[in-house]
Amino acid sequence: MAKKPAKIIIVGGGLAGLMATLKICEDGSSVDLFSYCPVKRSHSLCAQGGMNACMDTKGEHDSIYEHFDDTVYGGDFLADQGAVKGMVEMAPKLVKMFDRMGVPFTRTSEGTLDLRNFGGQKNKRTVFAGSTTGQQLLYALDEQVRRWETKGTVKKYEFWEFIKIIKNKQGICRGIVAQNMNSNEIKAFAADVVILATGGPGQVYGRCTASTICNGSAVSSAYQQGAEIGNPEFLQIHPTAIPGSDKNRLMSEACRGEGGRVWVYRKNPQTGEKERWYFLEDMYPAYGNLVPRDVASRAIYKVVVHMGLGMKNPNRVYLDLSHIPADYLERKLGGILEMYDDFVGEDPRKVPMEIFPSIHYSMGGIWVDTKHHTNIPGLMAAGECDYQYHGANRLGANSLLSATYSGVVAGPESLRLARSGELGDALTPEEMEAARKECAEEFDRIRAMNGTENAHRLHHELGDIMYKYVSVERDNNGLAECLKELKGILRRWDSIGVTDHGTWANQEAMFVRQLRNMIIYAMAITKAALLRDESRGAHAKIVLENGERKLDENGDLVFMPRDDARFMKTTIVSFNKETEEPEVTYREFDHSLIKPRLRNYAVAKKE
Ligand SMILES: Cc1cc2nc3c(=O)[nH]c(=O)nc-3n(C[C@H](O)[C@H](O)[C@H](O)COP(=O)(O)OP(=O)(O)OC[C@H]3O[C@@H](n4cnc5c(N)ncnc54)[C@H](O)[C@@H]3O)c2cc1C
Repeated sequence: MAKKPAKIIIVGGGLAGLMATLKICEDGSSVDLFSYCPVKRSHSLCAQGGMNACMDTKGEHDSIYEHFDDTVYGGDFLADQGAVKGMVEMAPKLVKMFDRMGVPFTRTSEGTLDLRNFGGQKNKRTVFAGSTTGQQLLYALDEQVRRWETKGTVKKYEFWEFIKIIKNKQGICRGIVAQNMNSNEIKAFAADVVILATGGPGQVYGRCTASTICNGSAVSSAYQQGAEIGNPEFLQIHPTAIPGSDKNRLMSEACRGEGGRVWVYRKNPQTGEKERWYFLEDMYPAYGNLVPRDVASRAIYKVVVHMGLGMKNPNRVYLDLSHIPADYLERKLGGILEMYDDFVGEDPRKVPMEIFPSIHYSMGGIWVDTKHHTNIPGLMAAGECDYQYHGANRLGANSLLSATYSGVVAGPESLRLARSGELGDALTPEEMEAARKECAEEFDRIRAMNGTENAHRLHHELGDIMYKYVSVERDNNGLAECLKELKGILRRWDSIGVTDHGTWANQEAMFVRQLRNMIIYAMAITKAALLRDESRGAHAKIVLENGERKLDENGDLVFMPRDDARFMKTTIVSFNKETEEPEVTYREFDHSLIKPRLRNYAVAKKE
């Protein structure tokens, strides 16, 4: 018997959203696909370095188990191991799928897939297309989705902003409200199931490596409607970005994967002579420049902030490629070297690049089970906006993989749910109109705001506060202060004045709406960080003694140890509608497959 076609709404047309779209269309069902921008311009486009999969074309005896163990170890034993296992097992098949779709992966002169090193893994495991891997993968999926679009099973709503979900009488998500960013029309849409694939929340920190559309607003909106957030305190701070006053631009880990070295000048402790100090190689002999990102960022902080050894501009270290032949660099990293030249005006083939850590990625996000259902029935999430796969720290090149894989899982699962008979009633026209009207009235209120606060200045302040208190190193004094200041910012949001009161392409009013969501998301991050009294992955918490940061006998900061007994649990943050504050609980997860052990990248990994 023919299967009944379902209608799925997907918000987000990055790798996760497009992959889920393809799987749904292959089944004969249809998708309404929403995106801020043309899906082909989604943030996945910016990914540079590559995607991990055990292809073992270098004869290193790499194995899927090794990929599994590196990911779990790299995530400091906070990732659901069953979910990670599924992902790494499918990784080689996904690379083959992209290959068949025509992705121009870089190959060796013999024609086999080339692989490069990436952080936290000893084997070459990262497939890549020069330094524009995300763009090539996204374009491949975009072309496939266009085939279905011409057949009429995909309807794209590009330049539409998701505002909120709509639940039916049984509390099941059966639709969304969205706004046309040009005409400002606000409309309700019904579906069987809704999948959010809206990417990361980097803009909560203002300057970051991600695009301006990576604002976490959709996730925050769902959170305010009852979706739980998992592990939001785990934000990835990438060690090597070009700091900018507008945004920070990533210099991919691929630079170090291809032999780049990180250094500063120092006085040799024995001879007193000025020398280059390759501090990552010194501190972590087993992994050197390819330690995972949380470890590298902490080391850079130590050298720059605590030892005062920053270069030229005091907050920089060198990332050096100048010892590598220029033709090799051109072939492997051409795209990003050009970018450095364009923005900094120096040729990284000849002089070392000046870099510093930057907010980059969120390991946390909407809580989902291993099939990508959120706690709200009918609402699913996939890609960087969900919390799955990376635990307390993501390994480089594992996100293009998790975004694609989560789309492969969420797409078919949304169809199973759509046909399960568990979805209750369809939305009535009255329910849809009520949801639409609520959003339209809110938009009108925002358009009319005439207070004294400037929304963009408030956004800058939000980013500055988050960088100050919830960054590479945290302590409970700072986190408590941060929460207090965030509440102040949320109050000041009410006093924003907008200059554009119009109803055509009013980006300012849309930004003000997003900003509120960002502040509320920031509070979830901060409260979760405050209550997690341990250090794990990207969450490094300093011990306080008599209210001051504790130092050891060498004058180094003392960090709280990892505390598996209390905190080898997923943080679950729920929104309290009365107080507008986050509430934190903890949930068990599957860590039954690999026994937890302490991470130490100074020595080779033991299993
Ligand atoms: C500079 C950079 C380089 C990177 N390089 C790598 C790499 O080499 N390897 C790797 O594994 N990972 C890399 N990453 C991480 C990786 O690119 C992302 O995590 C991944 O691409 C996210 O895919 P996604 O589909 O979840 O979201 P995205 O690609 O971010 O797509 C999100 C989609 O949601 C839409 N959207 C969001 N909010 C709304 C809303 N409210 N209404 C309507 N639409 C909305 C957007 O328009 C977009 O279509 C990199 C990240 C950065 C910042």
